[in-house]
Amino acid sequence: MLSALASKHSNMNDVTKLLHAISFAARKHSTQKRKGADEQPYINHVLEVANLLASVGKVEEYDVLIAAVLHDTIEDTGTTREELTELFGATVSGYVLEVTDDKSLPKATRKQLQIEHAPHLSNGAKFIKLGDKISNIRDVSENPPDGWSVERRLEYIDWGERVIDGLRGVNANLENHFDELIAAAREAIEKPQK
Ligand code: NDP
Ligand code: ZN
Repeated sequence: MLSALASKHSNMNDVTKLLHAISFAARKHSTQKRKGADEQPYINHVLEVANLLASVGKVEEYDVLIAAVLHDTIEDTGTTREELTELFGATVSGYVLEVTDDKSLPKATRKQLQIEHAPHLSNGAKFIKLGDKISNIRDVSENPPDGWSVERRLEYIDWGERVIDGLRGVNANLENHFDELIAAAREAIEKPQK
């Protein structure tokens, strides 16, 4: 069974594998919603990340785009690295693991580790981090989690910037997009509320 699946992934062409990943992620995240007031389906976020990589970052490596689609499956849906390796190959599962937090650690430790780990990620994982932080900060600006104060939203952006500062120099398009977004987001959030 395992070897049949393993050979299946290596026989699939890139587009088929990407569509398979989208279908897999949609199933895994099917009961999850984003934390914003409009409660978007969780799959919207991972598709946005993959789309940012392709359309803004001009990333063409399919394994990176596939890993972007799958980037929250281990952390948030209990999917295992082995499952991803069997279905999508070791390169894809390696990228996903690189961007997966260890949820057994306290939140403050996880946040600090993201800052410390960022410089040591592979380029593919750095692209995914950039897309993930862009998507999350856009949400923090336009569609924030329920109950987040202005201060908390600004703290999230400060933290995201510290993570991204540790991985710069890999993709000017995504980094410029990130910089423009955080400037606009800070301005929008700081603007006095009516
Ligand atoms: P969380 O990690 O709890 O929440 C943000 C994460 O939730 C994102 O990284 C994203 O992760 C996911 N997410 C889902 N939906 C949304 C959405 N609509 N908008 C944004 N993110 C979404 O954040 P923290 O609790 O760590 O808070 C961020 C900052 O605020 C930290 O710097 C912390 O120190 C500070 N803080 C401030 C408090 C205060 O009251 N002032 C209290 C607690 C924290 P993914 O991509 O994995 O889905
Ligand atoms: Zn994410």
